[in-house]
Amino acid sequence: MKIAVVGTGYVGLVTGTCFAETGNHVVCVDIDEAKIEKLKDGNIPIYEPGLDVLFERNIKQGRLLFTTSLVEGIKGAEVIFLALPTPPGEDGSADLQYILQVAKELGALLDRYVVVIDKSTVPVGTAQKVHEAIAMNAKVDFDVVSNPEFLREGVAVEDFMKPDRVVIGTKSEKAKSIMSKLYAPLVRQGNPVIFMDEASAELTKYAANAFLATKITFMNEIANLCELLGADVDAVRRGIGTDTRIGKRFLFAGIGYGGSCFPKDVQALAKSSKDINYNFKILDAVMSVNQTQKTKLIPEVVKYFKGDLVNKTIAIWGLAFKPYTDDIREAPALENIKMLLDLGANVKTYDPEAMENVKHTIGDKITYCKDEYEAASGADALLVMTEWPVFRTPDFNNLKSIMNGKVIFDGRNLFDIEEMKEKDFTYVSIGRAKVNE
Ligand code: NAD
Repeated sequence: MKIAVVGTGYVGLVTGTCFAETGNHVVCVDIDEAKIEKLKDGNIPIYEPGLDVLFERNIKQGRLLFTTSLVEGIKGAEVIFLALPTPPGEDGSADLQYILQVAKELGALLDRYVVVIDKSTVPVGTAQKVHEAIAMNAKVDFDVVSNPEFLREGVAVEDFMKPDRVVIGTKSEKAKSIMSKLYAPLVRQGNPVIFMDEASAELTKYAANAFLATKITFMNEIANLCELLGADVDAVRRGIGTDTRIGKRFLFAGIGYGGSCFPKDVQALAKSSKDINYNFKILDAVMSVNQTQKTKLIPEVVKYFKGDLVNKTIAIWGLAFKPYTDDIREAPALENIKMLLDLGANVKTYDPEAMENVKHTIGDKITYCKDEYEAASGADALLVMTEWPVFRTPDFNNLKSIMNGKVIFDGRNLFDIEEMKEKDFTYVSIGRAKVNE
């Protein structure tokens, strides 16, 4: 099949590359000229494990091309994916300007039947709006399908190539048959392609993200309770996670959820609800708890240094909002760094993949190090912000000898309480006993 993907970011590039891998001819379109130049030169502008192998193979086979021209990109395409940004507007609603702009442009360019596919996360009613925007200028028949994406950054290729399920919202039999053909190679093991109406497909994506954000937040509330009651959140997690009705995943307490999806999607769903006079109370609580949770360790740091962080050196391990990505959108580390700088501290940091992105936003206000030990060297305290595997089993004796202080604030509960006692660190984590406080 000939496929165009408009928007070549985390979702668009993975979608385009994976569909090229299943034998389609794909052209990825983006307005970012520097990004397209980089891709044409054979370089991937994001960090996504496993993407490079597929990317190189399909470029070599001539099945994966890049352009800044929408006209060029959609030439001959039978399906056109929209993988465009839907950032939060000032009122929290999903900003549809990128999608509707492209839809308007597409209308004038279509010269035969195509299926236009909303892959972006969009509120209920967007497929209809996209349909109307295209129809304003279109002289040919077309269908608009809602096909939300559930990939997770860090394991995006695996998620895309072996999806738990594919959700397709359309009433058109013709579009259904094209979408089935397109996804058939990805669901050969029997994972379902679930057909539904457009509105339900659009809501499915928000419901999934809001539910997962709620699950994380619920566990963070339990962690806060554990601290007050003298219980251990890791034990409680194991205790409830083994209940198959609950499940083991998304139960890890920490400094809150971040990233480009959960925060904006929870916000957008809450706003959509308010717009129709429905007060989705759980979502308001989730957003409020998560906001506090993100910087929950800062008061602990302040208390430890008796209110004076001026010229204290704080090491930060991890900047990305989660491991295996360079994405720093809404990453808790950024807010923590800002607060530490405001309190007069110096910050030294290391992240395996996200430092370049942080340099573009925070610049030289903090020091970027070549590894976790260089970041910790001379530090008065260490803060763990992202659970990269490389941080999980540090050489604590080495840490003790190179750090100025012997205190670790762990936002991801990476270390064993007993070991921290043994190694004589002051150790503050989430929902667990404090060590040597
Ligand atoms: P992104 O910001 O990484 O990529 C969007 C791309 O669209 C950018 O490269 C941008 O330059 C390009 N773009 C903007 N306007 C354009 C235009 N007029 N023409 C062509 N290209 C244009 O965003 P993303 O993370 O890939 O997310 C895209 C959508 O997918 C969002 O709605 C998001 O909520 C959803 N989503 C994201 C993830 C994720 O993990 N990142 C997962 C599932 C769904």
